[in-house]
Amino acid sequence: MITDDPNDPRLKRGPSTEEGMNDVYLVLSEEERSKGFVRPLRRSYTHILCHTSTKMGLALCETYARDPHFYGFTYCYFCNTHFPVIEFNWDEDGMPVGS
Ligand SMILES: [Zn+2]
Repeated sequence: MITDDPNDPRLKRGPSTEEGMNDVYLVLSEEERSKGFVRPLRRSYTHILCHTSTKMGLALCETYARDPHFYGFTYCYFCNTHFPVIEFNWDEDGMPVGS
């Protein structure tokens, strides 16, 4: 699930160290995302620690492409928890996530 409302009460605050995916992830609004991407649209990233790739929903990918610094933490499918974005590389071009 995603929301573009920063005040959505289902959103977790700060770094999430709990296991599992969050119920809801914040994304930029469709209007904001439609203003144009400053990075290529990438669809998956690999966790450096476990070498496992995680694929994301389109709205999340578009949010990264519009604002590469939007997220501080991101989810690893294999580890089933969140880590700082610097621990991940984009599958498409090997660039660090969040840069
Ligand atoms: Zn992992």
